[in-house]
Amino acid sequence: MTQIGTKCVQAGYRPQNGEPRQIPIIQSTTFRYESSAAMGKLFDLEASGYFYSRLQNPTADTVAAKICELEGGTAAMLTSSGQAANFFAIFNICSAGDHVVASSAIYGGTFNLFAVTMKRMGIEFTFVKPDCSDEELEAAFRPNTKAVFGETVANPALAVLDIERFAQVAHSHGVPLIIDNTFPTPVNCRPFEWGADIVTHSTTKYMDGHGSQVGGAIVDSGKFDWTAQSDKFPGLTTPDASYHGIVYTEKFGQGGAFVTKCVAQLMRDFGASPAPMNAFLLNFGLESLHLRMKRHCENAQKVAEFLEARPEVAWVNYAGLKSSPYYDLAQKYMPNGTCGVVSFGLKGGRDAAEVFMSKLQIAQIATHVADARTCVLHPANATHRQLSEAELEACGVGADLIRLSCGIEDADDLIADLAQALETE
Ligand SMILES: *Cc1c(COP(=O)(O)O)cnc(C)c1O
Repeated sequence: MTQIGTKCVQAGYRPQNGEPRQIPIIQSTTFRYESSAAMGKLFDLEASGYFYSRLQNPTADTVAAKICELEGGTAAMLTSSGQAANFFAIFNICSAGDHVVASSAIYGGTFNLFAVTMKRMGIEFTFVKPDCSDEELEAAFRPNTKAVFGETVANPALAVLDIERFAQVAHSHGVPLIIDNTFPTPVNCRPFEWGADIVTHSTTKYMDGHGSQVGGAIVDSGKFDWTAQSDKFPGLTTPDASYHGIVYTEKFGQGGAFVTKCVAQLMRDFGASPAPMNAFLLNFGLESLHLRMKRHCENAQKVAEFLEARPEVAWVNYAGLKSSPYYDLAQKYMPNGTCGVVSFGLKGGRDAAEVFMSKLQIAQIATHVADARTCVLHPANATHRQLSEAELEACGVGADLIRLSCGIEDADDLIADLAQALETE
């Protein structure tokens, strides 16, 4: 299987003679073995197999295998949410006293996880602008830095990360680059091809695409040589006492160590495992991901061009527009389009945004993005409601910002809806 569309439909599952064509939902917490000795081997990580769905479940692993192929990785796992995926990806290689360099243009939930909750665990983050200078990026590193983190296309700022540049700098400091690839999905960008080492996803967004499950995924490229940086990543390269002293890099190799450790330790201890039914629903979404991403991008491009030409509109932010500061980066990393999310402001500001949104018929107000159905949000009045005007400006979400997530309806209808809401304003 070489092409992305074929992988979306078929990767991860190959039924044997007489087996179900659709992936089976293994709705079972436990698995039976003929002897305790056989089960003991699983607990020692001496044999692979299932024993308890808090750690691993066959349905989830089938879907993880598809996402792994889509990203071009060596190992992958599902989590119960995107938040859990980003937490695990960092916590798998960082402990109290460690430090991470992160792009400041990231999802608000991730920012809070890093800056507030993980800080309480003793892990410190330095945030840099995605378009910071090389000097600023260099200056963010410390001797205890263990990773660099960013989003391919930031939610909601829509900034495009220069993955190749961030990967080079991360590697020159002996640490991996972790990329949250939620918005473009592997259909539009495969960060491993540009030097990223670990990819995470909120599968809640385009991968599911129908607003039916909350989920996440972690994929390893298998390219980062942990043993070459053994002093930085002892958790991967020295014996794990909780598994009779196995060494993950020795036992599972460069391509398997990261995910095996993450499952064996973090899933075991935190249990952020997805329900088998949710993994099944996610697979439904993945089967049409390549078709939907194309349509999301086509619709968003037309909508962005329409908005940019309207006199009521003060500004439009979409990396597919030539006016975007991210146009060149988007062309380099995502020549087939970035995502379906467009942000813009009206000349009438905050109040005009409210009136405009109340008039929309097809685009519906929802705290969600990246869905088959077009949805719209005014962050200053919803997710960012607690913030003052100054705080809103500081986090790049102006009081007038409207976030429009273009679905897969007909573009003409979406544009007609926007037009009537602008006109009756
Ligand atoms: C939504 C989102 C998350 C968090 O994912 P959940 O599935 O809501 O936990 C993380 N990163 C990005 C880019 C997101 O859009």
